[in-house]
Amino acid sequence: MAKAQFEVPELGEYVEVPALVEGTMAHSKPFTAKAEFQEPLGYPGELPEDWQEKAIGKMGDLLGKYRSFRVFLDSCVKCGACTDKCHYYLGTKDPKNMPVARQDLLRKVYRRYFTFAGKYFPKLVGATDLTREVLDDWYSYFHQCSQCRRCSVFCPYGIDTAEISMAAREIMDSIGVGQKYCNEIIGKVFRIGNNLGLPGPALADTLEGLEEDVLDETGVDVKYPLDEKGAEILVVTPSADFFAEPHVDGLIGYGKVFHEAGVSWTLSTTASEAANFGMFIGSYENMRRISMRVREAALELGVKRIVFGECGHAWRVAYSFLNTLAGPFDFLDPRYPVPQHILEFTYNEIRKGTLKLDKSQNDHMVLTYHDSCNVARASRMGSFPGGQFEIPRAVIKAVCNNFVDMDPETTHEKTFCCGGGGGLLTDDLMELRVKGALPRMTALKKTVEESGVTHMAAICAICKSQFTKVLPYYGLEMDQIVSVHQLVSNAIVLTGQKSGDEEED
Ligand code: SF4
Ligand code: SF4
Repeated sequence: MAKAQFEVPELGEYVEVPALVEGTMAHSKPFTAKAEFQEPLGYPGELPEDWQEKAIGKMGDLLGKYRSFRVFLDSCVKCGACTDKCHYYLGTKDPKNMPVARQDLLRKVYRRYFTFAGKYFPKLVGATDLTREVLDDWYSYFHQCSQCRRCSVFCPYGIDTAEISMAAREIMDSIGVGQKYCNEIIGKVFRIGNNLGLPGPALADTLEGLEEDVLDETGVDVKYPLDEKGAEILVVTPSADFFAEPHVDGLIGYGKVFHEAGVSWTLSTTASEAANFGMFIGSYENMRRISMRVREAALELGVKRIVFGECGHAWRVAYSFLNTLAGPFDFLDPRYPVPQHILEFTYNEIRKGTLKLDKSQNDHMVLTYHDSCNVARASRMGSFPGGQFEIPRAVIKAVCNNFVDMDPETTHEKTFCCGGGGGLLTDDLMELRVKGALPRMTALKKTVEESGVTHMAAICAICKSQFTKVLPYYGLEMDQIVSVHQLVSNAIVLTGQKSGDEEED
């Protein structure tokens, strides 16, 4: 088991609602962004003298622009339905990690400056001035929300804490208090094209290596093209897919599916990243700038369709915002949705019978599936309601003989966050990440013990990276997390593929 500098919660049969321990995560704060990471995103490099005034001004801007933000701040009736629904509260016991308490950190300032009662009778309505202490609390606790939206499923008014935490981060950025991890990464996307800072030649090299590996293993010349003009499909995928385990096994699977489907496809150096961290910091402007690269790449390469790889929040941005931020995509083939998910593509091919699949290639595993928050609760997939739940499961069942779902209270729209979403996948927040993974780890361990589950599949790069890190803290193995297209890749029998005996020769 990994050695922790903090107490790792014990796994029980079910997650219990913990007794409150005031202030237990007050110390948890991500590194702040220096001026060099703030300024390229259009934010000040440090806290200005008149920061209170500027922050209140920014809050006023957001209230004017986003009706939902004001409605969420006005409509909470303190019913308590959300209090025990957040994985960070369940894992840390800190009462400020209850969704309603997190919202109140911002709501009390909103009331003070934007409501009649708060201006004249602040104590009566729990309104407070925006002080340095309040700002510090914002920085800490709005970086303990992975914007997973689980709490909103249980709120009778549909109040979305994720939107409140995005707004809080946008206000903080506007006064020079940004988070290093997200802002440095967004800068890298602008400068180099992807989160990992991989330049074009490094991508080309990696893809060439994949082609050689697949050829060696199968005897079939499957292509992993980059910047191929005139290809039918542009694939935009998280940069983790280019090299990290288990992500890259998924990318190998995409290539095999396209090969067997007989369609031409390409990756692009211009849009070599599906992730869009503009969403995590609540900045539509940065989200738009990042999204525009997808449009540029599609025009540059003359493709007819755009398909997104396995990435949760990228799919949310693509599905919910791409057309607004970077559209219209009227130059693409109107017969296909813009964008399309790689799972939809593979699902359709399976239904058409294009793919020859040998499920027994995955018989060494008993699979379960982790619904990623941004796919489950912030987008859809395919052409029917609930497609985001059914399509991944249908694909897994088409390529594996052994599948078991986890406790229904932790799957589909009630899924628990992996603990590392929303811009929190950084080592400076490891305690939060490990504790926040408690509900998912509890459900997983139960299926391991009761149903012999050996592996958990996911379709989100952040979930996969997070689980690789946190599984060992809970006595599980880091390689128990797999990509869904890794399973597809194992099962596909390519046309002309050499047999197992030939491989050994
Ligand atoms: S959005 Fe998710 S992380 Fe944020 S408060 Fe709600 S349940 Fe917790
Ligand atoms: S469930 Fe909704 S209305 Fe009830 S306390 Fe939470 S945010 Fe407020």
